Amino acid sequence: ALPNKPKGELPVVDNPEVAEHTCDVLIVGGGMAACGTAFEITKWMPEGMKVLLVDKAALERSGAVAQGLSAINTYIGENPIEDYVKMVRNDLMGVVREDLIYDLGRHVDESVMLFEEWGLPIWKRAEDGGNMPGDRPAKSLREGGTPVRTGRWQIMINGESYKPVVAEPAKKALGEENVMERVFIVKMLLDKNKENTIAGAVGFSTRENKVHIFKCKAAMVACGGAVNIFRPRSTGEGKGRAWYPIWNAGSTYTMCAQVGATLTMMENRFTPSRFKDGYGPVGAWFLLFKAKVQNGLGEFYANSPEVKDELSKFMPYGQSAVTPTCLRNHLMLNELKAGRGPIYMATDVAINAFVDAQRAAGKDEKELKRYWKALESEAWENFLDMSVGQAGLWAGMNIEPEKVGSEIMPTEPYMLGSHSGCCGIWTSGPMEDWVPEVDGPRSHQYKWGYNRMTTVNGLFTAGDGVGASGHKFSSGSHAEGRICAKQMVKYCRDNADFTPELAQTAQELVDEIYAPVRLYNKHVDASTAADVNPNYCKPAGMMMRLMKATDEYGGGVATYYMTSGKLLNICLDLLALMREDAEKMAAGDLHELMRAWENYHRIWCVETHIRHIEFRKESRYPGFYYRSDYPTCDDENWKCFVNSTFDPKTKEWKCEKVPCINIIETEP
Ligand code: FAD
Repeated sequence: ALPNKPKGELPVVDNPEVAEHTCDVLIVGGGMAACGTAFEITKWMPEGMKVLLVDKAALERSGAVAQGLSAINTYIGENPIEDYVKMVRNDLMGVVREDLIYDLGRHVDESVMLFEEWGLPIWKRAEDGGNMPGDRPAKSLREGGTPVRTGRWQIMINGESYKPVVAEPAKKALGEENVMERVFIVKMLLDKNKENTIAGAVGFSTRENKVHIFKCKAAMVACGGAVNIFRPRSTGEGKGRAWYPIWNAGSTYTMCAQVGATLTMMENRFTPSRFKDGYGPVGAWFLLFKAKVQNGLGEFYANSPEVKDELSKFMPYGQSAVTPTCLRNHLMLNELKAGRGPIYMATDVAINAFVDAQRAAGKDEKELKRYWKALESEAWENFLDMSVGQAGLWAGMNIEPEKVGSEIMPTEPYMLGSHSGCCGIWTSGPMEDWVPEVDGPRSHQYKWGYNRMTTVNGLFTAGDGVGASGHKFSSGSHAEGRICAKQMVKYCRDNADFTPELAQTAQELVDEIYAPVRLYNKHVDASTAADVNPNYCKPAGMMMRLMKATDEYGGGVATYYMTSGKLLNICLDLLALMREDAEKMAAGDLHELMRAWENYHRIWCVETHIRHIEFRKESRYPGFYYRSDYPTCDDENWKCFVNSTFDPKTKEWKCEKVPCINIIETEP
């Protein structure tokens, strides 16, 4: 054995085994959207149709819901769907695909009812019975039970096991033999003969030396959004801590863009304000406990007259009843920049106000104590359900939320399309009369035959993948996956005579995927340390280089999210160099091979982000990013989509403005 070989558990060889698979439908990803597709598709597919699902991790705990959640953030219930569209439009500063959002609104509740039938405990109003031992059994949602709402669209769950509850029926529907876990997909593949048509994908096992090549008639890519594309606030001392799940590396956007799918609103990003360092959720504190934010001087700044003035600079969004998420960040950043930090979630004030209200209502000390205990355990359970690290941090820092507030802070930027962000891929809406008819290429149209199909024939996406329609959350992503399922079956039926053929040979694909391994094995002995070598660079170093460039030039935390045309162009130059150097990434084990390809996806994906911010000559999302050269939100010139398309043949990018058409009345 070579002296420098790592002693890892996942050794690599130069020549892996090759496994070739043929199917009708390939589902790439195993998160909420993919589980929705897997469950739904078996209802529609004809006898003999083969469907495969490939996840880089294990279905039961993969994706953003891995740790669990304590609320389902999209349940329409008694609300008009039009109001849901208006809420999303306002939060995302006016530029959204209302057709996609409305369509999602009409399907999402069915997913939530399924979750409950599969065993997910959904809180019910006490008068309807409850879920606790001794309670009168509550009616299910389908039977008309009333969920506990913390906001107009959110309902509370006991959701530590949310993902296993959703994954099990997905796996059962497809059959375990059709679910491939721990296979990382590196790229989608176009058909050799038919223009602009998907024909397959290629990836590798993260547990054995095996490259998997797939041929398919239709594919859905739902690999979530992107994390670790900007330098996180915790680096050496807390490396790996982030709000967004660290395994979603921008694969969705990169893999679809590389085969020519048009992207939309890639300038959008999400920088959530969360409990500092632990990234614990704030939703329950704001909505359930009615907590407020306080600056370092003890002021509840959010309702001050100065704040009203500040918000009036961003009309009509600043005036809305619910201030958009980015503008709330903007206010917080103003406090921090003025030296009035840190910002606290006043947990102490909120909890004590609850107890005082009970006391005023005549509750005796024993009842108050019981009430207090219930509140306290709810506060902790909220973290234990979905962000265990935050509970650990509170315990480690001796935090008693009823006595002291906890710091909150905007995070580094992430890219996603299903939470309070909307970057993603341009897709067809449903073939309904109310979806606008637009002439021109698909990159300008709102519908072209198959709902949620990208501009590439046979390539679908859902969840974080679909752009310009955020606020789907876990339930909406699942519902969107179900929409894709039916459409992909239709596509396969309509194209029954299509036989996919790949342009590259199996050997060419293996050579490409395993290049980092061969580079490592060839040169590892050129130095005495496996990580330092004149012939290659390691994925970890490449990631730091990427984060430095985006942080300093692309509007990361280093500059309070400020950038400019000049800085963005420097960033684009650095990214072009990185794309070249990425070919010199070396992998000493299978884990590193995954890291190498993840980084490659990240570099590509963040480049689309920077490119879009550069193209849009305004600051559409103050609080998420600012352009110093165009500091305001300019509805007159930029209330439009920015779409971009990479041409796989010429390798050129095209960015363009696309009109944003309202289908729901614009009055609040
Ligand atoms: P994910 O569920 O993230 O799934 C992505 C999948 O792709 C994973 O299975 C992953 O393993 C796989 N994958 C990635 N790359 C590859 C690759 N190259 N090859 C193969 N597989 C790959 N929603 C709520 O309703 N309520 C909440 O309280 C809530 N809180 C949230 C808190 C956080 C921190 C986050 C990040 C999200 C939260 N959401 C919440 C939103 C919800 O989790 C997402 O909307 C939803 O998970 C998106 O579904 P998806 O299928 O697009 O992506």
